[in-house]
Amino acid sequence: MTETARREPDGRTALLQSMNDRRSGLPKQRHSQEQVEKVLRALPSHGWPAGWLGRRDRALLVLSQVAQLPYASIAALTAGELQIADGVASIRTPGGMTRVRRNEDGLICGPCALARWVHALDLTVVYPDGRVIAAVIARAVPLTAHSPHLCDSNNTITEVTGRLAVLPPIDQWGHPVRTVSTRSAVSRPIHGRDVIRSRAATRLAEPLDAREEQRANSLEQRVEMLLDH
Ligand SMILES: [Zn+2]
Repeated sequence: MTETARREPDGRTALLQSMNDRRSGLPKQRHSQEQVEKVLRALPSHGWPAGWLGRRDRALLVLSQVAQLPYASIAALTAGELQIADGVASIRTPGGMTRVRRNEDGLICGPCALARWVHALDLTVVYPDGRVIAAVIARAVPLTAHSPHLCDSNNTITEVTGRLAVLPPIDQWGHPVRTVSTRSAVSRPIHGRDVIRSRAATRLAEPLDAREEQRANSLEQRVEMLLDH
């Protein structure tokens, strides 16, 4: 993989980062690059719900294995803290800015994986009727090594999507359980299912929110499941 992830500490809350690291079960990357690439190549990008789950898994692998962010940071990350443009994904966490650069191979391009996922997430906000996202992903053109790079253009999302957890919890059907990150915001259920509200407004004061810890653990388990076979 030729992507490079670079962390640029911005001087903010180094303590937070170390707490996140401690809770994330280091070492962060015990899987080989070959193993990660093999799984990235095999994940589905279309069909419902396979393509939805595949896009989410691809984004999760990029954040955890390519960007090497601690799971606690990934669980706390909102879509608005992720910017993808000019072949680079810039991810802002309390630990600083991490950048993931493009790979020519569309199947393993980190910024493209993140752009595709955030775009799908945005569609669930713009079209709250779950049948829309299901239809879009069901009919999506399968991703290949030669797919056009979404990461080259500006990937703008709605303000509402920007406040959502980039990897919201999913229910047993794979449907997103929307997490709204301001206390005042009223969340609407997707597909009529229950909604979990987070209080990201208080996140810096309470960085180790129990719900985020639970989500960090489930993200880590998902990655282990994907890479351990
Ligand atoms: Zn790309």
